[in-house]
Amino acid sequence: MTQISSDLHDLTVAQLATLLRERKVSALETAEHFLARVAAHTEFGAFLDLQTDVTLAQARAADARLAAGNAGPLNGVPLAHKDIFVTRDFATTAGSKMLKGYQSPFDATVVAKLGAGVPGGAIGAGMVTLGKLNCDEFAMGSANENSAYGPVKNPWDLSCTPGGSSGGSAAAVAARLTPAATGTDTGGSIRQPASFCGVTGIKPTYGRASRYGMVAFASSLDQAGPLARSAEDCALLLSAMCGPDPDRDATSLDVPTEDFTRNLTADLTGLRIGIPAEFIGEGLASDVRAAVDAALKEFERLGAKLVPISLPRTELSIPVYYIIAPAEASSNLSRFDGVKFGFRAKQYTDLNDMYLQTRAQGFGDEVKRRIMIGTYVLSHGYYDAYYLQAQKIRRMIADDFQQAFKLCDVIAGPVAPTVAWKLGGHSDPLTDYLADIFTLPGSLAGLPGMSLPVGFGAGKMPVGMQLISNYLTESRLLNVAHRFQQATDWHTAKPADSAQGIYR
Ligand code: GLN
Repeated sequence: MTQISSDLHDLTVAQLATLLRERKVSALETAEHFLARVAAHTEFGAFLDLQTDVTLAQARAADARLAAGNAGPLNGVPLAHKDIFVTRDFATTAGSKMLKGYQSPFDATVVAKLGAGVPGGAIGAGMVTLGKLNCDEFAMGSANENSAYGPVKNPWDLSCTPGGSSGGSAAAVAARLTPAATGTDTGGSIRQPASFCGVTGIKPTYGRASRYGMVAFASSLDQAGPLARSAEDCALLLSAMCGPDPDRDATSLDVPTEDFTRNLTADLTGLRIGIPAEFIGEGLASDVRAAVDAALKEFERLGAKLVPISLPRTELSIPVYYIIAPAEASSNLSRFDGVKFGFRAKQYTDLNDMYLQTRAQGFGDEVKRRIMIGTYVLSHGYYDAYYLQAQKIRRMIADDFQQAFKLCDVIAGPVAPTVAWKLGGHSDPLTDYLADIFTLPGSLAGLPGMSLPVGFGAGKMPVGMQLISNYLTESRLLNVAHRFQQATDWHTAKPADSAQGIYR
C-alpha cells in the first residue's frame, strides 16, 4: 500500500481508476496523498481554495460506493476545477476581486456531472474534488497574469507563464498536484496552457458541455473541457462532462452523451491531416515549427497523409475575436454591480456612485479594458462598423473550415507561435492577443480542438500540437491523439526531468 501510494501522483486517471476499482488503494488514501502534495507545492500559485474536510468526505463517499459495488469508472479519482466553475462547497472567485468570498448555492453542471451528480438528474461520475484552481480574471488572458490572486508559475520553469486563462489547471496537472482538471476555452484557454505546460487538453464542440454555472465571459464561445496527462484520460473525463442540459443551458446541444474512449485505438491508415499554410508561415518560432514537423512525420509513420490546406482568414480571427469576445463580456459582466454578488465598495455617495466605485475597485485592468472595448463596439453608430462586420467575418471563418474539411479529416498545426514566455515578458496586452492567432479560428467556428505535447523548444519548454476536427467528431480527435501517444512518450515527460528537477 505504502509503496503504491508514494507514486500515486505519477499515475494517470486511467491507472488510478483501475487501482481504485481493484481496491488496491482507497479513494481516501488517494485524496490524502494529493492533498499533501498540494500543500507541499504552493510555489506555483495554482490553487485558490481548498476545503480538506469536503474533499475527504467526498473520498469516503466514493469508498462507500466502491464497497457497495455501484461505482462508475472514474469513481474516487481526484480532480480540481478551474475557479470559473461555481461550486457549492468551495469558494468561487473567477480570479477576480469582484467575487472574493463568493459562495455559490449550487454546483455548475460540469462539476455536478463529474462529482455527485446533478440534483434530480443522472448520478455523477463520483470524482473527488481537491480544490479550485487559479485562472485569469473572468478567463480573460493568455498568461495567467490577470488573476487578482497572483500569477500562476509554469512547473517547467518558475520564471515562465503557464499560459492562460486555465493556467492553474495546466500547472497543477503538469506538477502532478492533481491527475486531471477542468478548464474553459473561449479563445484558446484550454489548448494554450496545455501546450505551455506539456499536458493534454481538449475543448469540445461548442454546446457539447453545459455552460450552466460557468461564470460567463463570452457566451457564444465559452466551452468547458478537461486537461490531463493523456488523450485517454481526456476521453474518460470528457465522456463524463458532456451531454444535453436543456433546462439550464439553452445552447447545450441535443446530442446524446458519448463514450469518447470507444474509438481511441482505431487505425490511422489513410487519415488525411490538413496543414494550414497560414499556421506554419512567418511568425511561427523555429523551435515550435521543428517539434510540430517532427510530430507530423510521426503521423505519416502511423499511416496518415499530410494534405496542404488554407484557412485564409486566420489573421482576421484576432480582430474578430477581440471585438466579439469583449462585446459579450461587457454585457455579461454588467451583473457585477455590488448588489447581487460578491464585492461592494466601502465608500460611496449614492447608488450610481456605488456602482461606479464597486466596478472601479472590483475589476482588474484587463477586464476594464474589455468592458470599454465591448461597450464601444456595441454602441449606436459603431455597432454596424465593428460588431456586425465581425459577426460576418466570423461566419466566413467557419465556412473556411468547412471548405478545408472537404480535403482532410483533421487539421494539425501549432497551438501557439512560441513556447511559454517569461512572466512579465509581454509589456502590452496586444502582444498577448497576437499570440492567440492559432487557437482563435477554431473557437470562432465552434469546432472541437485539442493540444497534445509533441516535444520541447527553447529553454526546454514544452511544445504542443493543435488538432482541430469537424463538429461533434471529438472521438476522432482523441483517437488521433491517442495513437500518437501510444507511439511516442512526450506526454510522459515531467517537470522533474527538467533542469530544475525538484518536483518528484
Ligand atoms: N487569450 C484569450 C483571451 O484573452 C482566450 C481566453 C480564453 O479562452 N478564456 O480572451
